[in-house]
Amino acid sequence: MLTVNAYAAPSATDPLVPTTIERRDLGPHDVLIEIRYAGICHSDIHTVRGDWGAIQYPQVVGHEIVGVVAEIGSEVTLHQLGDRVGVGCMVNSCRECENCLSGDENYCLNGNTGTYASRDLDGTITQGGYSTHIVVVEDFVLKVPESIPYEAAAPLLCAGITTYSPLAHWNAGPGTRVAVIGMGGLGHMAVQIAHAMGADVTVLSQSLSKQDDGLRLGADHCFATSDPATFTELRNHFDLIINTVSAVIDMDAYLRLLRLNGTFVSVGAPAEPLPVKVFSLFGNRRSFAGSGIGSIRETQEMLDFCAEHGIASEVEVIPASEINAAYERVLASDVRYRFVIDVDTLR
Ligand code: NAP
Ligand code: ZN
Ligand code: ZN
Repeated sequence: MLTVNAYAAPSATDPLVPTTIERRDLGPHDVLIEIRYAGICHSDIHTVRGDWGAIQYPQVVGHEIVGVVAEIGSEVTLHQLGDRVGVGCMVNSCRECENCLSGDENYCLNGNTGTYASRDLDGTITQGGYSTHIVVVEDFVLKVPESIPYEAAAPLLCAGITTYSPLAHWNAGPGTRVAVIGMGGLGHMAVQIAHAMGADVTVLSQSLSKQDDGLRLGADHCFATSDPATFTELRNHFDLIINTVSAVIDMDAYLRLLRLNGTFVSVGAPAEPLPVKVFSLFGNRRSFAGSGIGSIRETQEMLDFCAEHGIASEVEVIPASEINAAYERVLASDVRYRFVIDVDTLR
């Protein structure tokens, strides 16, 4: 066992505090990663605060992890000492269900093993990336392209893949009109990726305060959702809407913005249900879909796509001691556009 420094939530209501956790001894296919940076995803906040259900405490979260390979198990072939690597939202899956066999292990029918707050094969609860080291089986470890700085790469491991996957699946590209609701961590990645795919991109943000950034990141248009005129002007307009909002929104108002055969995909995961009137789906034969992270193969594809297109996350690097303050700013939609923890401040 390796004892490592970490930052943990002691309960659903107390601030996160410094602590130590144990990492397992390396198995033959395991990789020990010395973590350099860990992004703060809104899912970390939902999880520690119990928005999605009760969890065990203390809990270390963080699933946007980048670092360096510090040690490898005896049979590891995919990674070498010193490699720049990343770990996202899952660290294993059953490997034998229909979805795992088709390479869609993020949709593992037995539930993939989440990077945190998930039951691991040895029965322990997984602990995430707000820590100095992590041990992960080699085929759930991604290669981080040289051209992307570590801190700007970390958010790609969740925010990047979670938006790349639906954009790719629903064929965002030249001739398609894509809207992104919410310009936070996921939203600012969706804008960049959809633009690089060739789509016409619209940001739907609560106000126009992020308009300059949106346009700079590749959006063609920005609208404020606080202005009722937005919903009349954009009626029957989009082929694809990617919803990244962490709270409940007026689904029917947004569904009416889809044109014929358009799809509304929620990656945002509020604590409460998103209610829909079926009549909002009948018009224009609209679809309401969801999408959960992406497979390992697709995550590597996304990292290589981002490197090729010069895309990365816009980050605000913080020491671990500022995690609690960063949580409050994320909750206030005051993030530009991802907080990333400098894990050296935990050593
Ligand atoms: P974030 O950085 O907080 O961004 C969310 C954005 O939504 C905010 O910046 C804000 O953008 C907008 N927003 C927030 N509250 C709002 C409200 N009450 N009404 C309207 N808009 C609001 O969060 P994130 O890390 O991108 O995560 C977004 C959501 O995706 C979370 O629920 C998270 O758990 C979920 N998620 C899902 C997956 C998946 O696999 N499906 C993966 C990762 C994250 P504006 O200021 O531009 O309005
Ligand atoms: Zn996440
Ligand atoms: Zn499976």
